Amino acid sequence: MTDTALLDKFKIALKKEGLKNTPQRVAVLEEIIKDEGHRESEEIYLALKNQGRHVSRATVYRTMDILVSNGFARKLNLGDGRARYESKVNSPHHDHLVCIDCGLIIEFMDQEIEDIQEEIADQHDFVLKRHIHQLFGLCKTCQK
Ligand SMILES: [Zn+2]
Ligand SMILES: [Zn+2]
Repeated sequence: MTDTALLDKFKIALKKEGLKNTPQRVAVLEEIIKDEGHRESEEIYLALKNQGRHVSRATVYRTMDILVSNGFARKLNLGDGRARYESKVNSPHHDHLVCIDCGLIIEFMDQEIEDIQEEIADQHDFVLKRHIHQLFGLCKTCQK
């Protein structure tokens, strides 16, 4: 998707929520898209602040909700009560290995696992729409 098409889609999403398209909200969109990390709203807010972009905390939090509900970003629940966000734009489906000690997140994608999930769903007359697959453990560093 081209940037203009993406921006148009974002404008439509904002309009649907009764919000105006502002440079601040676009800055939040750009920030989530350009980064490959899994960050909390607070970290996204601080990243913008460090770049000298003046976006209020409330705007960051509110915009993240809109990005999630409109398919621009994915909200991850890693079981520690802190919501992390990652871009869904230009980010193919993947699953996560999560270190329960340091919080490191490793992305992986295994076609065999994907296929097995489809088969299991099939066996139960279930049509899969999405899935969340998170494996918790200790990363290489934290095993020491
Ligand atoms: Zn670790
Ligand atoms: Zn990820």
